Amino acid sequence: MNAYVERVIENVKAKHASEPEFVQTIEEVLSSLSPVIDKHPEYEKVDLLGRIVEPERMFTFRVVWMDDNGNYHTNTGYRCQFNGAIGPYKGGLRFQKNVYPGIIKFLGFEQIFKNALTGLPIGGGKGGSDFDPTGKSDAEIMRFCQSFMTALYRYIGPDVDVPAGDMGVGGREIGFLFGQYRRLKGAWENGVLTGKGQTYGGSVIRPEATGYGAVYYLNEVLKHEHDDIKGKTIACSGFGNVTWGICKKAMQLGAKVVTLSGPDGYIYDPEGVATEEKVNYLLEMRASNRNRVQDYSDKFGCEFFPGEKPWGRKVDIIMPSAMQNDVRMESAEKIAANHIKYYIEVANMPTTNDALDFLRHQDGMIVAPSKAVNAGGVGVSALEMAQNSERLVWTADEVDNQLHRMMETIHRVSAEAAEEYGLGYDLVAGANIAGFKKVATAMYEQGAF
Ligand code: GLU
Repeated sequence: MNAYVERVIENVKAKHASEPEFVQTIEEVLSSLSPVIDKHPEYEKVDLLGRIVEPERMFTFRVVWMDDNGNYHTNTGYRCQFNGAIGPYKGGLRFQKNVYPGIIKFLGFEQIFKNALTGLPIGGGKGGSDFDPTGKSDAEIMRFCQSFMTALYRYIGPDVDVPAGDMGVGGREIGFLFGQYRRLKGAWENGVLTGKGQTYGGSVIRPEATGYGAVYYLNEVLKHEHDDIKGKTIACSGFGNVTWGICKKAMQLGAKVVTLSGPDGYIYDPEGVATEEKVNYLLEMRASNRNRVQDYSDKFGCEFFPGEKPWGRKVDIIMPSAMQNDVRMESAEKIAANHIKYYIEVANMPTTNDALDFLRHQDGMIVAPSKAVNAGGVGVSALEMAQNSERLVWTADEVDNQLHRMMETIHRVSAEAAEEYGLGYDLVAGANIAGFKKVATAMYEQGAF
């Protein structure tokens, strides 16, 4: 490996020993960049890698809110404005009890490359809170969101930083956050957040975009392999917004998602989550704040496996779409033993580095990285920003066509970048290299910052 790359990785490991997720993403991305740094020795002189691993700005804030019984609670809020070289910081907010700086930073770092891959002018950012939405009432969620935004609003804006949703933050939360922003600023300000409701500047197809985009990308991989999506079975994890979009698009294209998972276990539905009723039920499950996938098997009478993950199922395609480190070595071994050809990451960093390495070296297996596969979500967020600043509303066809084209392009530029460095059809390295090239050029041209 390039000596400069190695040194930067070692520095990050030493400095961020208490943030393993952040170290994990740095190792994964930077090790792909070795050949690029070999070719660009000028990057070492300006310490481009030392800079890119350091957030431009990151802050924490106190969020105090009152529950329905009148008791006060205190959480920590975060926003990491990681890299603004190619556009305003852009990225979601995650509300989940395990949120801490290591999670926000890993997500922010991934976001830089993902956003660059969309081809649109958006920088990388991420935020959230250790607030746990499970079991909270709508009124509690509203009070939390209002308090969160009261602390954050001075530091964001349409040309500065444009937050959106992530785990625990969907349309309802974005509505409360936006309402509070508008109340505090007394201005609509081009929407500020993305993922808004469609009556107040939200884009059509934004709720579906991450899942649809993932299936469009999958389709490009299948085309590359002269294969067809029709009749394919897919194992997904999660049952939230992203998995919902995958189920819906897969159903339209004649494939079926046969597993879903939650913190309680996984369900296996051999008929597929492939009727309108089933797909819509996922929305109800999310709105209930119960965070239980067993509700699906109770309703539709299929098997539920408590405490287990779906990765031992023999299917055509694996799409981990729940959360980070969902697929570890023991699951990767099962996937390889089942000779599954397509391993398409969807959630951010769903695979541990050792498992990812192992899968990438399986003969005949194609591995696609989440930062490319899930980029359609933030890509359509950028289209929402464009519509808001134009004061226009695009049709579903217009947005969907742009999303489709975006995913084709992301797949193509990733494959081309890998090819350029003699790596063959390596979509993982290709996505890192293609995203990096754009951001690195912008940073280099903008001088010391
Ligand atoms: N949280 C999503 C992601 O990981 C969406 C971000 C956005 O739309 O800004 O990309």
